[in-house]
Amino acid sequence: MRASVLDAPGRPLRTAVLPDPVPGPDDALLRVRACGICRTDLHLRDGELEPGHLPLVLGHQIVGEVVQADAAGTHAVGARVGVPWLGWTDGTCRYCRSGRENLCEQARFTGRDRDGGFAELTVADARFCLPLPPQDAYPDLQVAPLLCGGLIGYRALRMTGDAERLGLFGFGSAAHMICQVAVHEGRRVFAFTRAGDAAGQAFARELGAAWAGASDTAPPEPLDAAIVFAPAGALVPAALKLLAPGGTVVCAGIHMSDIPSFPYEDLWRERSIRSVANLTREDGTRFLALAPRVPVRTTVTTYPLAQAEQALSDLRAGAFEGAAVLVP
Ligand SMILES: [Zn+2]
Ligand SMILES: [Zn+2]
Repeated sequence: MRASVLDAPGRPLRTAVLPDPVPGPDDALLRVRACGICRTDLHLRDGELEPGHLPLVLGHQIVGEVVQADAAGTHAVGARVGVPWLGWTDGTCRYCRSGRENLCEQARFTGRDRDGGFAELTVADARFCLPLPPQDAYPDLQVAPLLCGGLIGYRALRMTGDAERLGLFGFGSAAHMICQVAVHEGRRVFAFTRAGDAAGQAFARELGAAWAGASDTAPPEPLDAAIVFAPAGALVPAALKLLAPGGTVVCAGIHMSDIPSFPYEDLWRERSIRSVANLTREDGTRFLALAPRVPVRTTVTTYPLAQAEQALSDLRAGAFEGAAVLVP
C-alpha cells in the first residue's frame, strides 16, 4: 500500500510503498476513504510530541471502509466507520473502570502508538471504531474533521458547563465546528484569531459568532468560559483576564508553549484553568449523534496523500479556513 511516512521528527513526510498491514484478532482491516489532518499530526512531525515508534504513519481522523472484520464481527464488511485518536485502552485500570478511559495509562493512540490513516489501508481495534452518521448527511470529506477537532472540541465544550458567553481562542478546525454547536445550544460565541486575520474573523461571524477580533483585543463584555485551541501558552492568562467570576479557561490542545506567570488576582473569585485530554468512546458517540442535528457544517480543504507534508506546512502557516483532509 501507499502511505505517507514520518521517518524522524523534524524530517518531511515521505510517500512510500509499505507492506499491507496485518490485522490482529480484535482489529478490522480498513480501506482509508479520507483522513483528517490535526494539529497533533503537526506536533508529531515537528518533534513537539514523541512518536510511539518510527517510521510512523500519522493520521487519527480516519474514515474507513471495513474490508476484513475483526474476529467478533463488530463491524460488517463494507461498513463505514470512524477511527479516532483513542485507539486502545486496557479496560481494567482505575480510569477505565470509572468512565475516564481518556486517561488510561496504558492507552494507545492512533497515528502515534498505532500506525494511522495517512495511507491506503490501516488496521484499527474494532471496539474503538465509531459508527458514523449516514453518508448522505455526511460524505467522507465532511465527516473526517468531526473525528478529532469535533469530538475533542465537544469534550472541551462540555467542560465549560452552561457558560453563555463563550470565547474561542484559535479559530481553526475544532473551533469552526464547536462554534456551530455552541450557537445551536443558545450560547454566544466570541472568536479570537491572530491579529490581522480579517478572513478568519469573517469566517467566525459567518458561522454564527456574535463577535470576532484579534486575541490581543477585549470583547465587548466579560466571558463565562473560554476554550484555548491554539498551542500558545500566552493565550491562557490573556483568556483568564477576560473571564467573569466563576469562569473557566479550558485548554484543549495536547501541546502548548509555556504559560507565562500572572497575578493571583486574575484567578481569584473562583475562576479556573483546566485541560482536556483525549476522548472517550462515549464523547465520540454523543458528538456524532449531535452533529447532524445542529447540523455541523465542515469547511474542508483536500490534499492528495502525496501532499501530506504540504498540508502540514499549510496548517502551520494557517493557510486555510476550517479543516484539511487527506484523500489516499
Ligand atoms: Zn487530533
Ligand atoms: Zn485503562
